[in-house]
Amino acid sequence: MMSNVLETRALTKKFGAIVAVDEVSFSLQQGELLALIGPNGAGKSTCCNMLMAQLKPTYGDVILGGEKITGMRPREVWRKGVGRTFQITATYSSMTVIENVQLALISHNHEIMRFLPYAHKMYRAEALQLLELVNMADQADRHCAVLAYGDLKRMELAIALAHNPKVLLMDEPTAGMAPRERVDLMRLTADIVADKGVSVLFTEHDMDVVFAHSHRIMVLNRGQLI
Ligand code: ADP
Ligand code: MG
Repeated sequence: MMSNVLETRALTKKFGAIVAVDEVSFSLQQGELLALIGPNGAGKSTCCNMLMAQLKPTYGDVILGGEKITGMRPREVWRKGVGRTFQITATYSSMTVIENVQLALISHNHEIMRFLPYAHKMYRAEALQLLELVNMADQADRHCAVLAYGDLKRMELAIALAHNPKVLLMDEPTAGMAPRERVDLMRLTADIVADKGVSVLFTEHDMDVVFAHSHRIMVLNRGQLI
């Protein structure tokens, strides 16, 4: 028996006359890799932003583990276990790969200010474990500024996992990647889903990338699920 981790009910966002997301209802199951695909402008990012509480729905609801989280603040939703990777890369480029992951682990454990001076010593083993999960352990001590784009994306995935999310939202994580890298990231995500039992909603504009590795595919067109 699978259980619903995240659910939307008639989730809707209007921008003036544009209905960006139009009464979208779906559920994400425990341990599922669910792909949300659709052309540019279909409403994928708007939908993700409402799930993360970055954007307030015009109407409709978001339900996490049976609890209505609509209207909660982003930080609260994040604390409840909804994590995300960003379409725009957000990392500290002056730090090394492992330092970025360590910082995320420290932040997750509420100790950021108190322990900042000792950050380089903390959670090193845990950070290395996360980097192993995304096949980045061999690059742990490199500076982020010199990483290839695809490697940066994998480090971001490790950072998102440092917060031990129940649900991970990935809004076009393969944007800007070569076709081969895109399929690889998808496969890696599928492995992590299997390994950690996390539930992932993954948006993508290319059907081919998601076809082989996702458990289920939803198609969004002009704000509507088809
Ligand atoms: P996708 O991520 O699938 O490419 P988006 O969710 O970014 O699609 O956009 C869906 C529609 O909503 C588009 O028509 C877009 O122009 C519009 N839109 C998105 N964000 C805004 C905004 N902040 N203000 C006005 N219109 C927006
Ligand atoms: Mg988008």
